[in-house]
Amino acid sequence: MNPFKQALEQLERTIAVSPVSDELRRRLIRPERELTVSIPVAMDNGTTRLFEGYRIQHSSLRGPYKGGIRFHPDANTDEVRALAFWMTLKCAVTNIPMGGGKGGITVDPKKLSKAELEKLSRGWVRALYPILGPERDVPAPDVNTTPEIMLWMSDEYAKLTGDTRNATFTGKPLANGGSEGRGVATGMGGFYVFEALRKSLKLPERVSVVIQGMGNVGGNAAKIFHEHGHNILAMSDSRGGVYSPSGLDPEEVERYKKESGNLKGFPGAKQISNEKLLELSCDVLIPAALENQITKKNAKNIKAKVVLELANGPTTTEADDVLFKKGVAVVPDILANAGGVVVSTYEWEQNLKGEHWSEADVLKRLHVLLDRESKNVLEISKKLKTDLRRAAFALALKRLEKALQSQSRQ
Ligand code: NAD
Repeated sequence: MNPFKQALEQLERTIAVSPVSDELRRRLIRPERELTVSIPVAMDNGTTRLFEGYRIQHSSLRGPYKGGIRFHPDANTDEVRALAFWMTLKCAVTNIPMGGGKGGITVDPKKLSKAELEKLSRGWVRALYPILGPERDVPAPDVNTTPEIMLWMSDEYAKLTGDTRNATFTGKPLANGGSEGRGVATGMGGFYVFEALRKSLKLPERVSVVIQGMGNVGGNAAKIFHEHGHNILAMSDSRGGVYSPSGLDPEEVERYKKESGNLKGFPGAKQISNEKLLELSCDVLIPAALENQITKKNAKNIKAKVVLELANGPTTTEADDVLFKKGVAVVPDILANAGGVVVSTYEWEQNLKGEHWSEADVLKRLHVLLDRESKNVLEISKKLKTDLRRAAFALALKRLEKALQSQSRQ
């Protein structure tokens, strides 16, 4: 399943219910720039390995390109292109002044030493820095990229360019120009979107939640939902998960994973595969790992009332149709996981202005923004009598069309 093909299908399906100009369509079906680079790294054993790296700048219609960098053995151009496309839509649906981009390296970072990982991260910047910068392209973390990696990248960029504003990479550690609230932003954003839509989605006040993936996004979402009194039935990492009908304490699950390296043998819970986890009965299913998890193969078995997409691209278009027919609402990634890019943009703004905002201030701004845009998306879905994904796309496309029109007038 090619994720970029999926993304284009989502676009065409939206245009069918909410038309756009032919020029906008043509601008979006192809990224503005794609770069593939070869990054040499001197390995600890004395050999030199070459890694393939990417940056895809999809659209600058609404501002500088913005989007994370993924380190993953399966990272490839089609995946990065789809993720860059979704960033364009995500920045538009949240109305932040950013375009869309994404980057990556084909690598399993778990197989590198820390020194090798640092050289590779700095190498990505050396290969790509001429096309980056606060006014050009502002990368951020994604799967397997941490605040420490963002710090190495930001430091390398400053050395190469002399630009010490620290506004080219976001998701940095707090002590190095990071924003309060950035670590929890994507999970927290998902929670705000859930809260904004809960009543309309006919969900009870206390919901049962199943979460796939327990990294930055899934781990934080689990803790936030739990802290607000919701019941976390299951959690997982890439090797499988744990399930307890009476509920899990996400802090305990995380602690156990840290100590034992995986979730095997977690006390008081059943072991469950990632496939079975997705099919558990629950109010809210949160995919928070990778693309293509809910497909036409398993969509008919999904028993959740609502799917809150915190991962990018977890549901295929065929699965969307099956879920829609079953009455399962899908809150789309470009809205549900937008908290990360919104707070990244706040970080960029703070760096450029030399300011440091409090966590309460950051989260309040995020809350107000996501509450407003979630309700806008809901209204559009009612008006167009369509699902939330097409509605979110339609809102984003309207804003992109406006940007295109004002550009063509110049
Ligand atoms: P991460 O590297 O911190 O965590 C990824 C998690 O997914 C880990 O727990 C890993 O074990 C698990 N995982 C990996 N492969 C899996 C598989 N096949 N099945 C089940 N679990 C698997 O990454 P993250 O930043 O939490 O990103 C997760 C998702 O959220 C991605 O789709 C990413 O694009 C999206 N996202 C991230 C951010 C962000 O701010 N980090 C923002 C928006 C969207």
